Amino acid sequence: MGEAYKSLPVVRKLSAAEETAWINPGKVPHKESNLKIGMADIEDAEARLGRFAPFIMKCFPETEKEGGLIESALVPVPEMQKYLEEICGVRMPGKLLLKQDSHLAIAGSVKARGGIYEVLKHTEELAVEAGLINAEDDYARLAEPECRAFFSQYTIQVGSTGNLGLSIGIASAAVGYRVVVHMSADARQWKKDMLRSHGVMVVEYESDYSAAVKEGRRLSDEDPKSYFVDDENSVNLFMGYAVAAKRLKKQLDEQNILVDGAHPLFVYIPCGVGGAPGGVTFGLKEIWGDDVHCFFVEPVQAPAMLLGMASGLHNGIAVQDIGLTGVTNADGLAVGRPSGFVGKVMEPLLSGEFTLADKKLYDYMRALLDTEKIFLEPSACAAFEGPVKLLAYDETREYIRKNGLEKAMENAAHIAWATGGSLVPEEIRKEYKNTYLD
Ligand SMILES: *Cc1c(COP(=O)(O)O)cnc(C)c1O
Repeated sequence: MGEAYKSLPVVRKLSAAEETAWINPGKVPHKESNLKIGMADIEDAEARLGRFAPFIMKCFPETEKEGGLIESALVPVPEMQKYLEEICGVRMPGKLLLKQDSHLAIAGSVKARGGIYEVLKHTEELAVEAGLINAEDDYARLAEPECRAFFSQYTIQVGSTGNLGLSIGIASAAVGYRVVVHMSADARQWKKDMLRSHGVMVVEYESDYSAAVKEGRRLSDEDPKSYFVDDENSVNLFMGYAVAAKRLKKQLDEQNILVDGAHPLFVYIPCGVGGAPGGVTFGLKEIWGDDVHCFFVEPVQAPAMLLGMASGLHNGIAVQDIGLTGVTNADGLAVGRPSGFVGKVMEPLLSGEFTLADKKLYDYMRALLDTEKIFLEPSACAAFEGPVKLLAYDETREYIRKNGLEKAMENAAHIAWATGGSLVPEEIRKEYKNTYLD
């Protein structure tokens, strides 16, 4: 492995666990991004979710009023913005909004997008192959007993720090599959309990996420009737996340929020292995190209994607290689080694990244609860570090200047992508509210 990365200033800051900002030197104008995937792939995923809408409605009646669409609100958070500007003493020109994937139906996190999509795609493949349906049929039929009996011969397995397991587990159990979720040591007890209550088999590991994935994959590969959801390399998951962008376009249009050269859109997304923020970013760039600026946020002890991208080594490097622990209270982001697939797709697209200390997750969480009465899990609160620090670092100010955005900042929209929280039980919320109180 090349060691040149060690002399990069950002790697030195990362290895000292300092909060930092990084601008991606590999980003190019969108029309030069030259990717093998594009809008047609997103539209294919969107159409599939449309075919499954009657089935989703039947299995998850809470989605009925949305016609089987699993989608979240986009809401302005002016009180939170005021708080961050006044209390934290930062400047945030433009308008701050919250994308509430924390409140997505079924899984209560962004994983409801990719995870459920992948389970449905696999279901469609099995069902078509077995002659249970064809693409013109009403997919609600798949919820009937003889179809469920058919799916019960098959197993779905996944490795997870928690939320992906919840999403895949709940969705797969609803279809009728046998489900095994391989949980890493940092996964919360209540997530394991919730899965077991849905009849999901939970296997616990003493080790971290990568080890749980590896063992889960091995066990699944041994069984010809088992399908492994591979969070690190799955194009299906990625496309499920990417569909969010088309729906966001509609929401921004409805709220008369313009996105163009004079009205930039900034999006800040908490990042773990990279699939969710990567898929969303890919979709957003397909729609708005150079007018959308996407930033990931990671904990100081687990900046896996930043390290992979800055070093160019992607999944060939882990945070432990630069002396970090990979341990963080942000359980959804507790990933030491990033997805190589996602990192490579992000190379021409991503604007940059921020890292933040764990304590701030809780401060942002309490602030949002106080100002807007919205609860997010700590991992999701990482998103606020982006708008708070966009004008605070030399690196990011230079990015604004170089992209000719200084005058446009007053017209900017900032979206903090709230990736999870609504399933967190009340007693755990209480515990979170009292964590890192100084
Ligand atoms: C999974 C997760 C993320 C990040 O998604 P990745 O695909 O792992 O990068 C962010 N926030 C929460 C709450 C999550 O559960």
